[in-house]
Amino acid sequence: MVVNAIIFGAPGSGKGTYASRLKTKLRLEVISTGDIFREILKKETEFGKKVKQFVEKGLLVPDEIVNEILRKTLSELPSGKGIILDGYPRTIAQAEILKEIVKIEVILLQNVPDWIIIERLSSRRICKNCNEVYNIRFLKPKIEGTCDKCGGQLYQRPDDTAEVIKKRIQLYQKMTSPIIDYYKEKKIPFIISKITALDTPPEQIVEKIIEEIKKLNLA
Ligand code: AMP
Repeated sequence: MVVNAIIFGAPGSGKGTYASRLKTKLRLEVISTGDIFREILKKETEFGKKVKQFVEKGLLVPDEIVNEILRKTLSELPSGKGIILDGYPRTIAQAEILKEIVKIEVILLQNVPDWIIIERLSSRRICKNCNEVYNIRFLKPKIEGTCDKCGGQLYQRPDDTAEVIKKRIQLYQKMTSPIIDYYKEKKIPFIISKITALDTPPEQIVEKIIEEIKKLNLA
């Protein structure tokens, strides 16, 4: 089964965590534009400095830059693999570009109240090396500060602070909600995960998503 999906949800809704688990359970690649930008920032090039101005303030990187990066990333993927896009598209203009590059079969939507997002993000930690997501309260690594998967060091994203989190949630609602309407109008099937508790195990959500994907009877 090859599936091309977009995972939507506010920052901190669990997108990265679910996508990474879906990656190991289904034959697909996860493309996170946020992760791609964080890699670019690490290199401290002129381009990195340009991107940094937006990312560190929680602002959207201009469409021309993001679209170019997406095109390049998709063109480098091995054929016969599905994809989950995480963090893209964030604008209708990006959705229109995406339509020309790949056929999206399903939208995975995480429905999470703001209070859970704020709690989760302020205790989120990420592996510097492989980007695996942890939470120092609900999804702890076996060894404090160290990634279970690769042994990399865990860090807190500079935009995971209360002030920037609020801005990112507002931005998500303002800019991403119209995209969700866009895909509803296009009659693309949705799988909606409703998350109401802080400690729902990711595996539980992921199993349900896989069950629903199977029901779509994709090739
Ligand atoms: P994320 O990890 O998805 O929350 O992304 C982190 C930051 O990267 C965002 O706050 C934006 O500054 C930038 N970014 C990621 N994806 C996009 C996108 N599709 N369009 C514009 N900016 C993006």
